[in-house]
Amino acid sequence: MKSRVHQYIEKHQEQLLGSAQALVRVNTVNPPGHNYQAMADALLERCQGLDLPAQVHRVPDQEVRRLLGSDEFPRYNLIARWDIGRPQTVHFNAHYDVVPCAGQWKFGDPFEPGLAGGALYGRGAGDMKGAIAALLMAVEALKAVGVEPAFNIECSFTADEETGGQLGAGWIVNKGLVNADFAVVCEGAAGTQVGCGHNGVLWLEVELTGKAAHASRPEQGVNAFEAMASVVQKLQAYKRKLNVAEHRYVDFDGEARNPTLNIGGTFSGGEGDKINTVPAGARFSLDRRLVPGEQLAAVERELRRAVARAAEPPCRVAAPLRIAPCVVNADHALPQAFARAVQAVRRRAAGYRLSSGFTDLHYFAVAGGLPGIGYGVKGERIHGVDERVRVRDLVLTARTYAEFMLRGLEAH
Ligand SMILES: [Zn+2]
Repeated sequence: MKSRVHQYIEKHQEQLLGSAQALVRVNTVNPPGHNYQAMADALLERCQGLDLPAQVHRVPDQEVRRLLGSDEFPRYNLIARWDIGRPQTVHFNAHYDVVPCAGQWKFGDPFEPGLAGGALYGRGAGDMKGAIAALLMAVEALKAVGVEPAFNIECSFTADEETGGQLGAGWIVNKGLVNADFAVVCEGAAGTQVGCGHNGVLWLEVELTGKAAHASRPEQGVNAFEAMASVVQKLQAYKRKLNVAEHRYVDFDGEARNPTLNIGGTFSGGEGDKINTVPAGARFSLDRRLVPGEQLAAVERELRRAVARAAEPPCRVAAPLRIAPCVVNADHALPQAFARAVQAVRRRAAGYRLSSGFTDLHYFAVAGGLPGIGYGVKGERIHGVDERVRVRDLVLTARTYAEFMLRGLEAH
C-alpha cells in the first residue's frame, strides 16, 4: 500500500506542478495582502475536491484595523480536517502570502510561473506555495490509494507570515482553532534536514524629532538627521558586544551562531525635508535576531536602554514585532519520526537544524505548547528575483509528507 502511495505521487507530478503553478498565479503579495479571499476560496475548493471538510475564517475587521490601522485588505485563514478517529492529530500549517517583487525576472511576470532546467520559477514557488501543493498531493495520494494516515490530519493555510503572522497562524492558535497534538510547519528546513526551531526577532522603530530652521542659520534648529547618525554610531558598540562567546549558540550540527543587529533596514526623513532646511524628523529601524537562550523581554529592555542612552534629544521607540526564539528538542518523538520519513524517501541520513529566519512555528510550539517541527520544499532565491523550486524536490517533499502520514510517530 505504501509503495502505491509513492507511485501515485511519482505518476502525478504534472498535476503537482500544475497545482503549484495555479497557487503562484494568485498574487498574494503582503504587504498589503492582495487577493487573500481569492486564495482562500481556491484552497477551499481544493480541500473540498479532496473530500476534506474545511472552513474559511475571516478575521473580524476590527481586529484587522487594530493591528494594521485599516481593514481595506481582509485576512482569511482556512482550516481543514481529515478526522478518522485516531487518538492523535498532527496539524500541518502553511502560509499563502508572499513578499513583494522587484527587478527583472527570467519569465517577466513573477506571477506567471515558468519552467526551466527542471525548476518552477515564480514568486512563492519556494516560499511557500510549493509546499502547499506538496502537502495537498500527499493527502490526495493517500485518499486515491485508499489508505488512512496513522493520525488525524488537520491542515491550516494562513495569512501574513511574511509580516509576523499575528492575523494568520497567531490568530488561529489564539482563537483555539488548532486542535492537535503535534504541529508540522511546512517550511524552515528541507532536503535531509528537519527544522527544530528558529531564531527570535525584535523589530524596533526609532523616531527622532528635531527642530526645523533655515539652513543658513543651523544653530537655530535641531538637526534630527545628525542626531540619528550619532545614535547609529553609538549602537556599533552594542552590535560588537553581540559577537562575544557568552551570546553564542551552537546549533544541532555544531555550527555556532550569535545574535545580530541590522540597523536601518528602513530609514526616512520627515515631512518638509528640503536641502536648505535643518531636518526636523528622522526615523530608522532595528532588526535584532535572538538566538535560543535569550529572553525577548530582557533583550528589548537592553536595546531600548542602549538607544535611549545614545539619543540626544530623546526619541520615540515602537516595537512592531516581537517573536521569541523557538527550539524543539531533537530527541522528541516528533522530530525523530519525521527524520525517519525523510530518510526513507531521500535515502540519506537526516539531520536537524535551527533556521536563522523566523517562521510561524513559534505560534504552535511556544504559544500553542505543541511539539512542532519545520519541513518544506527547498526553495532557491527565496524573497529574491527568480525565486524557484526544483520540480523533483516538490515530488520528494510530497512523498516525505505522505511517508510521515503513513508511518506516524511510532518507531517501527
Ligand atoms: Zn515562508
